[in-house]
Amino acid sequence: PVLVEAAYTIGSTQIRNRGTIGGNIVNASPAADLLPPLIALKAEVELTSGKGKRVLSLEEFLAGPYKTKIQANELLTKIKIPLLGDNYYTDFQKIGRRKALSIARLSLALVTKIDKEGIFQDTRVVPGSATPYPQSLPETEKAVNGKSVLNVDLEEIGKITSKEMVSITGERWSTPYKKPTIAVLIKRALEKIIKEAKTND
Ligand SMILES: Cc1cc2nc3c(=O)[nH]c(=O)nc-3n(C[C@H](O)[C@H](O)[C@H](O)COP(=O)(O)OP(=O)(O)OC[C@H]3O[C@@H](n4cnc5c(N)ncnc54)[C@H](O)[C@@H]3O)c2cc1C
Repeated sequence: PVLVEAAYTIGSTQIRNRGTIGGNIVNASPAADLLPPLIALKAEVELTSGKGKRVLSLEEFLAGPYKTKIQANELLTKIKIPLLGDNYYTDFQKIGRRKALSIARLSLALVTKIDKEGIFQDTRVVPGSATPYPQSLPETEKAVNGKSVLNVDLEEIGKITSKEMVSITGERWSTPYKKPTIAVLIKRALEKIIKEAKTND
């Protein structure tokens, strides 16, 4: 669902009809809407050249803003997305300057497992338009893992996410806006998932 939610926010109907997932990946924009969910889903890319094939994790494939490790003689020929097991929940949050045809000002993909006792496990948090190129936030993931849906401190998690983002980007002109806003996105995503998990219980 996280991939569908993100894809649905891309551009307009015309852009969505013409654009491909492969193009979104190889273009490697910091604001690409499909990169955060695909990284959070631990997607892999298959690259094919006349000499053969190689497979890289998507996170490894991205090399910088608008940069990837693709070689001039290679094509992206497959995107492999491992299936999530039972009790996984996902969410995608996006903020843009307007409601449609909107490039992400900030986005965030969240994938996490909630076990039978209501404990978060295997949490993956990947923001978009937040860091030079989409990448996981391991400190935030560690902070969520092991917490209970009953009493996870969302304010605290928000602060950790903000701090982690700034530790990657440094203070920039957009930091006064993005620092509090990324905290809001992780809180919204967790709140949505917690509500869903409680409804399923
Ligand atoms: C008006 C407008 C609005 C947009 N809005 C959004 C948005 O909201 N969110 C968003 O994420 N993006 C947006 N985009 C960007 C773009 O449309 C998407 O990233 C789209 O997914 C790109 O796919 P494409 O197939 O058109 O790629 P292309 O533009 O055709 O290709 C992009 C790059 O990838 C390379 N490439 C493509 N496929 C392969 C392959 N299989 N193997 C190797 N290299 C390949 C191309 O050579 C090129 O360098 C927007 C673009 C426009 C014009």
